[in-house]
Amino acid sequence: MSASETPRKPRGRLFFANPGPTNIPDSVLLATAHHTVDFADPAFGEVYWACIEGLKRVLKTQQEIFLYTGSGHAAWEACLANLLSPGDTILVLESGHFSQSWGRMATDLGVEVQTVAADWRRGVDIAAVKAALAADTGHAIKAVGVVHNETSTGMMIPIPEVRAALDAAGHPALLLADTISSLCSLDFRMDEWGVDAAVGGSQKGLMLPTGLSFTGVSHKALKAHESSKLPKHYFNWSAMMKRPLKSFLGTVPTSFFFGLQESLRLMEQEEGLENVFARHTRLATAVRAAVQHWSGNNGPQLFCTTPSRYSDSVTAVLMPEGVDGDVFRRVAMQRFNLSLGGGLGPLAGKVFRIGHLGDLNEPMILGTLATVELAMKVAGVPHTPGGVDAAIATLA
Ligand SMILES: *Cc1c(COP(=O)(O)O)cnc(C)c1O
Repeated sequence: MSASETPRKPRGRLFFANPGPTNIPDSVLLATAHHTVDFADPAFGEVYWACIEGLKRVLKTQQEIFLYTGSGHAAWEACLANLLSPGDTILVLESGHFSQSWGRMATDLGVEVQTVAADWRRGVDIAAVKAALAADTGHAIKAVGVVHNETSTGMMIPIPEVRAALDAAGHPALLLADTISSLCSLDFRMDEWGVDAAVGGSQKGLMLPTGLSFTGVSHKALKAHESSKLPKHYFNWSAMMKRPLKSFLGTVPTSFFFGLQESLRLMEQEEGLENVFARHTRLATAVRAAVQHWSGNNGPQLFCTTPSRYSDSVTAVLMPEGVDGDVFRRVAMQRFNLSLGGGLGPLAGKVFRIGHLGDLNEPMILGTLATVELAMKVAGVPHTPGGVDAAIATLA
């Protein structure tokens, strides 16, 4: 091994451009490092209830909310276990790895899964959703599951169109929406869009460590919960409602709430939620401009092919045929300390992902794009140089 091939530890701060977990603002990190408190202490209760109100504001709901110590998967499971019974059918709208994983979880829990299949580069066709609902005249479908922002493909599925499909068919199924990588990055409106259960997690747009997740729950869903028969204990909403904090059967992860109070303050008071969304759109536009520029010379391309569905929180980049995305990512990490997201499921090695959600600004995005371009050059990935200039042109 020559000196130039000797593995070395890159200097400088880890440059983190994953689509979750995301960068945590210093003030949130500091707030999270709070000394231990008794979760039954009224002083903690004040912080807790302020956070619950804040979560309701960002979910845009005035209905119920239940929380879990666990990553987004926990809230996925809580949502299914509290609303469905063995043998019930859920209609899963295919968008990518996360819609598929949620469907697999439903199968494992004893729920029948009907899928509206889709090309992952385009996501589900709403006409096909309408047709599936119209064909279900006996209302065997008890819930429709949709991922608002498909993190594996960089695609946003328009929930109001899914709601409209249910309404047009006069179908009573519950609408379940995964907002894990959209909440606080893209506009999400639980009540206005008629979402019955909204699944969220701490480590993406909320800019917190991983390990807290929650579900917004409509009154209609709470009614359905009363007759649901899937086994549940830690996740049981009825048991939670009997607890003083109306959630959490066990110890409450208090540190998260000190952090959440601060992240809500940053988003709602310091920046303003509308400005948070606008910032995500601005930075996402810059990333897409760079990728579209690189695509010349048989370079990498945007994985999502439907502009109206481009995600403003993550971009999946399709590698040229025969180029391994994971080899490229290793160069970015080992040479330059830049951490990018990998391809998930069948997209492993075929795409890499740039996360552009959470605590992020122009220099961070430009640093990421410049380093991606540098790593492409070093790794011998074909592309048209100058993607960073294309990004700057959208930002200036
Ligand atoms: C990250 C993510 C999940 C999984 O959440 P975990 O916190 O990793 O369990 C589910 N759905 C979407 C859309 C995600 O982005």
